[in-house]
Amino acid sequence: MRNHNFSAGPAALPTPVLEKAQAELLDWQSRGVSVMEISHRSQPFLDIIHKAEADLRQLMSIPDKYAVIFTQGGASLQFSTLYMNLVAGTQTPDYIVNGVWGKKAVQEAQLLGRGRVLASSEQSGFHSVPDFNVADIPDDSAYLHITPNETINGVAFDHIPSLKVPLIADVSSSILSEVIDINDYSMLYAGAQKNIGPAGLTLLIIRKDLLQRCPDNIPSTLNYLKLFQAESLLNTPSSFAIYLAGLVFEWLIDQGGVQAMEELNNKKAQLLYSAIDGSDFYHNPVEKRYRSKMNIPFTLAQAELDPLFLEQAEKQGLLALKGHRISGGMRASIYNAVPYASVEALVNFMQEFEQQYG
Ligand SMILES: *Cc1c(COP(=O)(O)O)cnc(C)c1O
Repeated sequence: MRNHNFSAGPAALPTPVLEKAQAELLDWQSRGVSVMEISHRSQPFLDIIHKAEADLRQLMSIPDKYAVIFTQGGASLQFSTLYMNLVAGTQTPDYIVNGVWGKKAVQEAQLLGRGRVLASSEQSGFHSVPDFNVADIPDDSAYLHITPNETINGVAFDHIPSLKVPLIADVSSSILSEVIDINDYSMLYAGAQKNIGPAGLTLLIIRKDLLQRCPDNIPSTLNYLKLFQAESLLNTPSSFAIYLAGLVFEWLIDQGGVQAMEELNNKKAQLLYSAIDGSDFYHNPVEKRYRSKMNIPFTLAQAELDPLFLEQAEKQGLLALKGHRISGGMRASIYNAVPYASVEALVNFMQEFEQQYG
């Protein structure tokens, strides 16, 4: 029996994917070994990683001028590797900060040298994407970094700016959840554990011409150009996570691709937001146009009821609704693998809880 899993990350995986992995765990492709137990340089593994890349390219319409790299270290390591690879000479990277992750990203850049905040909504509690004017980006800018979906604050961009400098986006919690035009970006990156697969895998999608910026004197395992040239096999990759991500990509294609997921995700988010907005008991603080469709924080009218809410939710199989330790309250993460029925179950529970205690 599978519970309703609203975990922010590592997050729910599609049940059919886990069933397939379970069925072939001990004896993969009748080889008498697990996929975890084979060489990453063997042809069967090369077939897995090539198929995963091809399926991802199909799902996101990624043209050949972009490299797809499977690496490790999480999205957080990219906060620094971006700087090491892509900031040349006296250039400075610029940031628009609409939540906790973007703030961490700029802090990591500052540890290595420079990081400039063009605009931030921190003063007003990260309830919106701050106003910004792309004409304000200085000439010495290395790139503009954005977080299209801020996972903790539940704040999402409502449009993607077009710029002269490279646009780099941390899409850890929004990749594959809606149709995007890859050509709007110079680079996308994501930790896998929200919408792609298990933790331990990090995905980079980067325009190949940008790889010319990568200097030679940084660690090879962090060097985008070297990772690309080695086809993500510079050293041992997180092979099982890549296999599982491949199964998720196949599952997504079976579901009708990203367009179909976007339509479903819109319905899921709408159901939950209308339950929140339709009550005086629940509240979401984010400005409507910037509301995330993946991560929906909400508070109860009386914070003293939080522990009871969580306890009773858990009894009904509604898991991981506790908000991030920074923001408190509740948060429902409703990534691709969370079915509509789970959101319905949550909304029903919320209404019952309000009737009893509201
Ligand atoms: C989860 C998350 C991160 C951190 O990911 P790690 O893989 O744990 O480093 C960074 N950015 C965003 C937007 C996230 O959702």
